[in-house]
Amino acid sequence: MIELDGKVVSQKIREEIKEEIEHIKEKTGKVPGLTVIIVGEDPASKIYVRSKDKMANALGVNSRVLQFDETVSQEKLIAAIRELNEDENVDGVLVQTPLPKKFNTWQVLDTLNPGKDVDRFHPVNLGMVLLNRTEIFPCTPAGILKILDFYDIDVTGMAAVVIGRSFIVGKPIASMLTNRHATVTLCHSQTRNLPAVVKRADLVIAAIGRPGFITADMVKQGAILVDVGINRLDKAATVSKYCTESQQKKFAKKGYGICGDIHKDAYEKSAYYTPVPGGVGLMTVAMLLHNTLQLFKAGRKKE
Ligand code: NDP
Repeated sequence: MIELDGKVVSQKIREEIKEEIEHIKEKTGKVPGLTVIIVGEDPASKIYVRSKDKMANALGVNSRVLQFDETVSQEKLIAAIRELNEDENVDGVLVQTPLPKKFNTWQVLDTLNPGKDVDRFHPVNLGMVLLNRTEIFPCTPAGILKILDFYDIDVTGMAAVVIGRSFIVGKPIASMLTNRHATVTLCHSQTRNLPAVVKRADLVIAAIGRPGFITADMVKQGAILVDVGINRLDKAATVSKYCTESQQKKFAKKGYGICGDIHKDAYEKSAYYTPVPGGVGLMTVAMLLHNTLQLFKAGRKKE
């Protein structure tokens, strides 16, 4: 079993981005601009947004966060997005999801100019992904393919099983794998006999949100395991059941540990696996910054 190291791959991507931005700044005096919109006080979302913002600024992106109170109206939120659509210093906009329940998420996301949609969730952009007519992909699926590419893993002809059908991960990665000539099965909570379906997979992508849900007995010997799930555990019994040793140590110090959707015991059977943390999560943030730079360049081409 070989660990697919998100730290190494994401760092390489970040270094390349930083270098390119420095070069662009030297030549033009301009840098890519990213605005992240967050609504409400969800602690996990706030942590994600802060780390994205910090990393973006560290690479030379002009990043800022627009924080709205949960009481903001749908109309005001939409008006703010329309303003960003017109702002020539903003190349990428990210609306942190999930939005609080009172909002109509699709209406909010649909307002975003597809050319500034850094997450690629706008229907136009998801359509382009489906049709294989774009080179800018949703961040998490793009990160998955980048890490596979880095380790020279070619998915052509593979039986790929994706578990989870969200528009953020499952649906786009299923399309992207299909476009790369894998034979894809997309599973969800209504899938019959999931263990038998997973057992056939050469490549398993788990994006469910359930600790250790894909167990060792479900996976084929030599399969490639890509774990998108991020589950925060704060009870000793579940931490020792699902978390790796290093996360168990973290629990002892900080009172919580992180685990994925694939049980750690399944790693032993795999040819390759992505750890949690240190795998797909790091790639997602790197690809967000990659996308911001791509949108900046696409915008300048039109000038
Ligand atoms: P969603 O909650 O939107 O979707 C979960 C999916 O899992 C649904 O399609 C659901 O099926 C399916 N599911 C739930 N229970 C079962 C089950 N018993 N058997 C089979 N399928 C099941 O999740 P997201 O895609 O947004 O996120 C999934 C996980 O990935 C989360 O842990 C999230 O935190 C993490 N994540 C990590 C990222 C990263 O950068 N590493 C980025 C984005 C997400 P159904 O549709 O039928 O309800």
